[in-house]
Amino acid sequence: MNERSTVGQEVPVEGYAGRPRDAQLEYKAILANASIGIAFTRERKFTLCNPKFAEMFRWKPEELIGQPGDVVYPSRESYEALGAIAMPVLGAGRQLDVEWEVRRKDGTTFLARMIAKAVSPTDAQKGTVWIVEDITAEHASRASLEASRDALERAVAERTAELQDANERLQAEIGDRRQAETRARHLADHDALTGLPNRRLLEDRLTQALALSQRNREQTAVMFIDLDRFKSINDLLGHSAGDVVLKEVSGRLVKQLRVVDTICRMGGDEFVVVLPEIKRASDAANVAAKILETVAQPFTVEGRELRITPSVGISVYPDDGRDAETLIRNADAAMYHAKEIGRANYQFFTEQMNQSASTRLALENDLRQAVLKGEMRVCYQPVVNASSGRVAAHEALLRWQHPSRGMIEPADFIHLAEDTGLILRLGEWMLGEACRWGTFIGTGRGLPVCVNLSTRQFNDPKLAEMVAHALKETGLPPALLELEVSEPTVMHDMDLALAVLRKLRGIGVTVAIDAFGAAYSSLVGLRQLPANKLKIDRSLVAEVHKGGKAIVAGIVGLAHALDLKVTAVGVESEAQKAALVACGCDYLQGFLTGLPADADTASKEYV
Ligand code: C2E
Ligand code: CA
Repeated sequence: MNERSTVGQEVPVEGYAGRPRDAQLEYKAILANASIGIAFTRERKFTLCNPKFAEMFRWKPEELIGQPGDVVYPSRESYEALGAIAMPVLGAGRQLDVEWEVRRKDGTTFLARMIAKAVSPTDAQKGTVWIVEDITAEHASRASLEASRDALERAVAERTAELQDANERLQAEIGDRRQAETRARHLADHDALTGLPNRRLLEDRLTQALALSQRNREQTAVMFIDLDRFKSINDLLGHSAGDVVLKEVSGRLVKQLRVVDTICRMGGDEFVVVLPEIKRASDAANVAAKILETVAQPFTVEGRELRITPSVGISVYPDDGRDAETLIRNADAAMYHAKEIGRANYQFFTEQMNQSASTRLALENDLRQAVLKGEMRVCYQPVVNASSGRVAAHEALLRWQHPSRGMIEPADFIHLAEDTGLILRLGEWMLGEACRWGTFIGTGRGLPVCVNLSTRQFNDPKLAEMVAHALKETGLPPALLELEVSEPTVMHDMDLALAVLRKLRGIGVTVAIDAFGAAYSSLVGLRQLPANKLKIDRSLVAEVHKGGKAIVAGIVGLAHALDLKVTAVGVESEAQKAALVACGCDYLQGFLTGLPADADTASKEYV
């Protein structure tokens, strides 16, 4: 540092109590030892600097004095730019405080904080004092601090986003789970097809309704609704069409009811309606009448117009039962009665119905034991050649010799056997008996024995095996066994029927389509079936001589074209016989040509 330039006249020093000369010495000492750079400039030249300042800029202090100000800036532009900022501030007597890039003598640069103030704002000649601090390190640490703060903020933001994301996923999952729970709860209590309450929920609701009725001394009606011949819709059009009908029916039922009423689907084609708080039983009758009317309106399913009717049974609390189970059971018994008396009507429960329901139950129990107890009998009815009148075959017909009720016809127990599945055991026994009798009577005479198969037997996967077994056991030649399957049974599922019939034909037995004309008379379906015979139903035979000849002739003509022999069943009069012969029927079966007779009687002809 150039001392000469720093030493001036002794003048009093502001804020200093000692002699001016001492003050100058002290200032010098301060300047010499200050850890920040201090310099004075005047007219754009350095006039004084302390050692620290010179060291910062890598000048020797005495060299720097007299140098133009711009030597410590990276470029002339940088110097001018700072000047443009500094002039107005300094000129106004204020302090300049900037961070600026400055240059060392060797050309390297560093970041400095520069504080400048004019010694006298009004007199630029008096110069400017510059206090300079190298803030490279501070700046770097500030930058790294900022960078780490930014990184931290970023990390926090990312984590927050992640958490938010996780939270959203969690919320969605909770929502999904709640929905699934609600769905599961709904499914547990509701029927999946119609969305109606199921039996479980019905019992809850009915029990509540009964408690309320008891308190209010009112009545509650329970209605058991079953669709008439719904099975034939399923059989004819398939289960998806059946489902459409069930949904439509449930929709129609719902529309007929009040909000306080409950309707439930018990399964299959059965519905139960609870009408709480009714004043009198006739209120339930009115609702039942409306239900009959609305359900009977035609449906369009898969482009076809269908009609279905319901049968309705009604029980009323408290007269017909005091608990849910009894009321439902009694309404069911009343519905059964409605079916018995011709369907498409409603019936109120009576105690007598209970008796017939329990009779049915007792019959079912008896039927379970019937084969073992040897109560089953087989009758044989001849089938005769239409032109010669000679016996051509025998149809085996089941009878039940009940110990207390006497002889029971198949019409009174085959349905029960079919519903309970007992038909499989019964059918197997029957087939064995018929084959044995057929071996005894038919072999040698070439007389086949005809055996009826129920739907359940026909659909039993073990049918062919069972038939083959019966033939083997009894030694009956397969050609002498004729199996009869009703038309609705084969039309129900043509693919399945084809497979079963092919298997049976494979064994070598003959197959007849029974009860043709009772339900569908599907001539188109017939064409595809590998059957040998067609048995025209009694209902058509009954009319054949009274204007029904053309229908029968048509069926016979078509059957012959398809290479099927035709048997007319239920021939009771000569007039019918003549008409049937004229139509070209091959065989006749009926009370006119031969009554069903027990095995011994039927055998007498031949032994
Ligand atoms: P289906 O196969 O149509 O058998 C003919 C029915 O018509 C027999 O009644 C027979 O007695 C009756 N019938 C014969 N000729 C006449 C007649 O001139 N007039 C009248 N009114 N009826 C006549 P059944 O024995 O009461 O059998 C009724 C139905 O029960 C049978 O109808 C058949 O579908 C079923 N069935 C009988 N036995 C068996 C069996 O062993 N297994 C199976 N699955 N069903 C059987
Ligand atoms: Ca038959």
